[in-house]
Amino acid sequence: MQELHETAGPRTVAVVGAGPSGLTVARELERAGHRATVLEAQDAVAGKCRSVHVDGHAYDLGGHICTNRYERTAHLLTELDVETERTSRYRVIDATGRAVRQSMAFLRDGALQRYRALREREFPRIAEPGLAHSARALAAPVAEWLAEHGLRSMAESFGTGYTAAGYGHLDDDLPALYFVKYAEMTGLLDPAPELLSHPGDFTVVGGFASLWRRVAEELKDVRCGVRVTSVERHPGGVRVHTDAGPVEADDVVLAVTPDRLLRVLDATDEERDLGARIRTNAYHTTLATASGLPEDAFYFLAGHTASRATTGHCVSYHHRYPDSDVRTFYSYGRPEDVTALLREDVTALGGRLEAVHRQRAWAFMPHFGSDDLKDGALDRLDALQGRNRTYYVGGLPAFELVECTVAHAQDLARRHFPPVQDTLTRPPGRPGSSRGRVCPRGLSDTP
Ligand SMILES: Cc1cc2nc3c(=O)[nH]c(=O)nc-3n(C[C@H](O)[C@H](O)[C@H](O)COP(=O)(O)OP(=O)(O)OC[C@H]3O[C@@H](n4cnc5c(N)ncnc54)[C@H](O)[C@@H]3O)c2cc1C
Repeated sequence: MQELHETAGPRTVAVVGAGPSGLTVARELERAGHRATVLEAQDAVAGKCRSVHVDGHAYDLGGHICTNRYERTAHLLTELDVETERTSRYRVIDATGRAVRQSMAFLRDGALQRYRALREREFPRIAEPGLAHSARALAAPVAEWLAEHGLRSMAESFGTGYTAAGYGHLDDDLPALYFVKYAEMTGLLDPAPELLSHPGDFTVVGGFASLWRRVAEELKDVRCGVRVTSVERHPGGVRVHTDAGPVEADDVVLAVTPDRLLRVLDATDEERDLGARIRTNAYHTTLATASGLPEDAFYFLAGHTASRATTGHCVSYHHRYPDSDVRTFYSYGRPEDVTALLREDVTALGGRLEAVHRQRAWAFMPHFGSDDLKDGALDRLDALQGRNRTYYVGGLPAFELVECTVAHAQDLARRHFPPVQDTLTRPPGRPGSSRGRVCPRGLSDTP
């Protein structure tokens, strides 16, 4: 049996990964009087919320849309005085660029009431941080679950956006859990107040990464470009070996998908077994100049989201700045197909792909399959929290959306790392207080 070590005094914690989850955990730890050292493999913080600049405009390669369910993110934005703006409207089009009417029948045909009753009965905690609480009730493959409960209109209303956003096709064997969590986070299933005075979805002015840079600036020790070579855990603490020297700590938080670290972790059989069950979606962002396309909106391509048979084709694109032809395009599949298929898709839409500025392949949405959820994979992951001086945050336990990872990471830190008495009122660290190798500013992806 692995040991659980939780003490009342200040603790030192090594946090591996400086995406939203890792930075959120580190912020909570420091505010509670603990000491965090964040270790990031890339040369900049922000993880899947990375932004880049082209011709003076900021573009988000990954996470950036916030809905009125993003209360924790909104709170963080307010605390750090980060400016937000309304996002572009959404439009659904076919492969030739013609407008397609998005069916919102689900909200009108009585299905919403049936859904709410089912939620109350079978998965009442779905909107709370984390996934484990609802995993068994929603383990069935999504198409099967929707049919069983007479909720097919839910797929018509939310399926296009879900697939366009990288969460997979509804004719795949993906568990209903992830589709339902996504639908909840759109904010359309229950009335919710406006956030930050935005009547609809919003994002960060100047790119979402600027929020995470602000979080990192207030932390005491964030080290970028660090390669973790091994993690040793023993009853007295944790030693994380890196190419820049070892980091000793009381505990370690893995803010990266655990299977990515198995090679360097002194993993237990349980960690190896769970790690081997994790799946991700191959999803790509292409930032490119393309002329002659429908403009000034976030476009979902209905023909390419309806079935996994069209994998590889562009599922959506965002035209964010009306005065520029640069767009962010999204697609699934093999990296070698992405540009060629995108060129075809842009031509079919009546446009021309001029220049590709940046391409990024993601191991998106860490998740478990239906059988593993039925067998309690997420409960097993939850049971590991704190064992062997190790904690797990990120999309796997929380769901791959910023608000979900932030809320889960905050709650985990608050539950397992209580505030140290004399620091209850101490403000977080200030810029310049760093003792570690801080991630440099002025990186290639910043203005
Ligand atoms: C294309 C795309 C679009 C998205 N759109 C939205 C959206 O509109 N709204 C929304 O809410 N969410 C969106 N998301 C999801 C959101 O970006 C993620 O849920 C969020 O970034 C997860 O944060 P995280 O910290 O858990 O993981 P990540 O952001 O993946 O961060 C993990 C960090 O760990 C680092 N790392 C990995 N391995 C190691 C290692 N061995 N050593 C040290 N560091 C390591 C990585 O470099 C990375 O910085 C999108 C994601 C993508 C890819």
